[in-house]
Amino acid sequence: MNDTDTTITLLRESGAMLEGHFLLSSGRHSNRYFQCARLLQYPDRAAAALAPVAARIKADIAAGKLAVDAVVGPAMGGIIVAYELGRQLGLPAFFTERDDTGAMTLRRGFEVEKGQRILIAEDVVTTGKSSRESAAALEAQGAVICAIACVADRRAPGVFGSSDSAIPWPFYAAATLEAANWKAEDCELCKRGLPFVKPGSRKI
Ligand SMILES: [Zn+2]
Repeated sequence: MNDTDTTITLLRESGAMLEGHFLLSSGRHSNRYFQCARLLQYPDRAAAALAPVAARIKADIAAGKLAVDAVVGPAMGGIIVAYELGRQLGLPAFFTERDDTGAMTLRRGFEVEKGQRILIAEDVVTTGKSSRESAAALEAQGAVICAIACVADRRAPGVFGSSDSAIPWPFYAAATLEAANWKAEDCELCKRGLPFVKPGSRKI
């Protein structure tokens, strides 16, 4: 199995990839919904899902293509991913989080040094918004973002617009996931009369 197949198996086994008819927080509809936390609740599966990512990063470090000093994940989704990648890469790992105004920032005494090379870690990258906000907060402190890593890349080219979904750093994903992403009025599943669920509001 390739990395994507392995990761999809882990997501399915963990109940982290649901198939059906979903209303997303964006208001769009999809045939799949990812709740990566359900995979990450199992430390052995988190380690297995991220091992290929860590291996590719280590290979690029060894080849002189990449240099990393620390791993930083945007809360909540990035915290466990950053921790696990930090563990596998032998690097410190910490996180950014939103302050009272909603701005992504470093709290709890976490600091970056000027020129420190940061790997951003995420669970699922859909638009890359929280990663870019986290990166901006770190760059404002003088850090340099060297790459981004995630469990699942589910960016939908053409749906969010190229400028919004562009990731300006080397990108390491355990899996690239495909999911439909319809405007509500264009939803193929609505056209078939199938009821949708809003993840988070019920059992998921
Ligand atoms: Zn629908």
